[in-house]
Amino acid sequence: MAKCNTSRTLIAQIAIPVPLQGLFDYLLPEPADPQSIQAGMRVLVPFGKGTKTGVILNITHLGDSRIDPQKLKRVEQIIDSVPLLSAKDLQLLKWASRYYHHPLGEVLSTAFPAALRQGKPAILPHDYCYNLTEQGRQILPTTLKRASKQQALLTVFQASPLAIAATELTRHKTALKALQDKGLIRKDTRQDHSLAWDKQTQALTANPEQQHAIDTVLSGLGQFSVSLLQGVTGSGKTEVYMQIITEALLRGLQILVLLPEITLTPQLEQRFRRRFSAPIVCFHSKLNDNQRLHAWLNMQQGHAAIMLGTRSALFTPLKNPGLIILDEEHDSSFKQQEGFRFSARDVAIARAKILNIPVLLGSATPSFESLFNVAQHRYRLLQLSIRAGNAADPVYQLLDIRNKPMQAGLSEALITAIRSTLAQGQQVLLFLNRRGFAPVQICHGCGWVSRCGRCDANMVIHAAERRLRCHHCGSEQPLPKDCPACKTGELQPLGLGTERIEQMLAELFPNNAIIRLDKDSTQRKGSLEGYLEQIHSGQADIILGTQMLAKGHHFPDVTLVAILDIDSGLFSVDFHAGEKLAQMIVQVAGRAGRADKRGKVILQTRQPQHPLLTTLIEKGYQAFAEIALRERRQAGLPPFSYQALLRAHANNAQAPQQFLQDATTAILGFNTGNTQILGPVAAPMARRAGQFRFQLLLQSPQRKDLHQLLDQAIPKISKLKQAGKVRWSLDVDPVDL
Ligand code: ADP
Ligand code: ZN
Ligand code: ZN
Repeated sequence: MAKCNTSRTLIAQIAIPVPLQGLFDYLLPEPADPQSIQAGMRVLVPFGKGTKTGVILNITHLGDSRIDPQKLKRVEQIIDSVPLLSAKDLQLLKWASRYYHHPLGEVLSTAFPAALRQGKPAILPHDYCYNLTEQGRQILPTTLKRASKQQALLTVFQASPLAIAATELTRHKTALKALQDKGLIRKDTRQDHSLAWDKQTQALTANPEQQHAIDTVLSGLGQFSVSLLQGVTGSGKTEVYMQIITEALLRGLQILVLLPEITLTPQLEQRFRRRFSAPIVCFHSKLNDNQRLHAWLNMQQGHAAIMLGTRSALFTPLKNPGLIILDEEHDSSFKQQEGFRFSARDVAIARAKILNIPVLLGSATPSFESLFNVAQHRYRLLQLSIRAGNAADPVYQLLDIRNKPMQAGLSEALITAIRSTLAQGQQVLLFLNRRGFAPVQICHGCGWVSRCGRCDANMVIHAAERRLRCHHCGSEQPLPKDCPACKTGELQPLGLGTERIEQMLAELFPNNAIIRLDKDSTQRKGSLEGYLEQIHSGQADIILGTQMLAKGHHFPDVTLVAILDIDSGLFSVDFHAGEKLAQMIVQVAGRAGRADKRGKVILQTRQPQHPLLTTLIEKGYQAFAEIALRERRQAGLPPFSYQALLRAHANNAQAPQQFLQDATTAILGFNTGNTQILGPVAAPMARRAGQFRFQLLLQSPQRKDLHQLLDQAIPKISKLKQAGKVRWSLDVDPVDL
């Protein structure tokens, strides 16, 4: 056997998606041309009893390895012939791994769609697409008005000057087939898109504020900057995005647009497809593995120009990166809350810095961190203060419901307001952030309540399916007919959920069409789109829903918005609660109205003097944020300090407490700065899904101090004896405490 020559033998340092820090050394496969193997390529390696897909980070000499050469295993297969991730992509992922103290292998796997994580080949299939026929180009979409899905699809085709890829149309299979059968569209082989873009004349004439925002961002293309575009719904933010994108496309650049929720993509996607003759891809969890693979590869290879996606799209490699837009930047769904806990907003900014491109953050209700960064001159503020097309701001009213009779959670005054709005043929939007029929079932005889056996929470009544469900762990059971405790007492629903309000609204307003929008009513694929269509075409009079309503959608015919229960949000222990509540109120209010119809927003409350509500309503969001930020400064809370939360859980209460005690000791040993260590304490919901949860909060006025401490303490914590007996995680910059 030939002796291996340690000085010349090359090894690969590989990141593998396992919960262990550090890279793993492997010998290169034989025979292999070392020149052809580069960082950013995926490999298949033996690991434990099986194999895993990893990513090469470095190629180095055997002499650099700390592993006994006899024990080194060999890479089984180099999967890619070219790197999938560039040096800058890897730089970002390494930074994120360090900043969030999360194993690099797991961070890297977040960057890939599932198919690539599983080691599937990174090949774009020779795809086909659909094009309008001559007849399809001529026909008026209204000819199809009795087939609304076909009509909608045809409109999209007529608006889009390019063919549309089959993979982008899988949601419209039936309508597509019908249009094909009618000879209005035909299947084509896919042209290879270039980023070339035919200038169109659909852009609106920007108002001066919009123009200023557009010019500012465009003048900074090709260099790093962060701009915060603040404007209420309907102030023309999307128009600003589109005009900036137009120019970026003309320069051959790619644009990554991040949105908080998939429910927002269809509307935006349609507007984008109408405006741009550039290939657009979407990336979110409702797409299948193949669609996500293709979208990712199309961006990576430069075939697509625009990606619209959720948080998980953030790491998609860009061949010609131009700009990152993050719409609704305040939205908490930009924070990943499990596994690799990162903030897509903060990482987007880090990414833009590495790529030397601008980031544009948009929101009607910017996060306090972003407003703080504006005040610190780290971000540039671009404001849209008037609603485009001269739509007026809505009028707010705090409706005192103390001692007032209520029906279906509605006070008499609100019912009167709803009646008069409906009488004028306008739509009403009612907001309640609680789905299900009632949040709890109670026995009138003995006081039994429907607690979840696995959580510190109640089981929610879902009347239509006749089930009790826990919204925290997913436990469910049939709705009991007799009290499980006393067998004889009468079981009653306690409190209100959207399902119950819908039922009672139907009694109060028997002649009006009511649409309920929540997670339960929109389970079925396509149902949300269906409801939105009904709302927009005026087939709905009352729209009732949860926070799903507060995001993205614009309902121009709604002139009355009511938030049914504001009080439950006023008394939270989490210091973020006030910010979230204010954002929610302004966001819900922003769904309504347009130029000729001024909207009204009614907030039902038993706390009409609460300073949070009065400040927000009398002085506006900006003033509210300034006051709240002043309070946070006095209390030394973020963004005036930096936090990390160490969480631990187990199926008993002792282990996580002991682990966090030991972790505290370890941290204290390194704490030379002025980091405060708070806890360990029970988590806000101490028991969830049968697990006992505890947490330890670290807070420091200096980011550097906190991270230095974590750098030293985390390796030690991960080696604690107790660490093996609990599930633990670190959340850097946590958003829920
Ligand atoms: P946002 O994204 O802030 O909610 P949009 O960009 O969607 O706002 O604009 C809201 C409405 O105003 C849209 O119907 C849009 O076409 C219209 N609009 C935007 N900018 C202008 C403008 N400069 N002139 C006329 N109408 C505009
Ligand atoms: Zn009972
Ligand atoms: Zn539960």
